[in-house]
Amino acid sequence: MNRRIDPEQDLSLAGNPAAAGCTHAEAVRTVRASGPGCQECLATGGYWVHLRVCMTCGHIGCCDSSPGRHATAHYHETEHPIVRSVEPGETWGWCYVDEAVIQ
Ligand SMILES: [Zn+2]
Ligand SMILES: [Zn+2]
Ligand SMILES: [Zn+2]
Repeated sequence: MNRRIDPEQDLSLAGNPAAAGCTHAEAVRTVRASGPGCQECLATGGYWVHLRVCMTCGHIGCCDSSPGRHATAHYHETEHPIVRSVEPGETWGWCYVDEAVIQ
């Protein structure tokens, strides 16, 4: 639990949003991780299962299998549509609006 990431790791989106039926490619930026783990869980002492990065601002949040579901909460707060997995070996993305896997 609470495996931390290297904040300097490559967080680019490998997949093509348009090919996945996603119309939000303009929301994808070159981002820096907000920190080594879920931003809200680190602040509150919570725990996470898997981590996602917001492709618009670099917010690191926890997945929907985690108690806080902070990646999804970040989407609802900001309307930033696309996240990417930052789990080892995973580069797939997810658009909340289109409910599309980007790979
Ligand atoms: Zn989309
Ligand atoms: Zn969290
Ligand atoms: Zn964001």
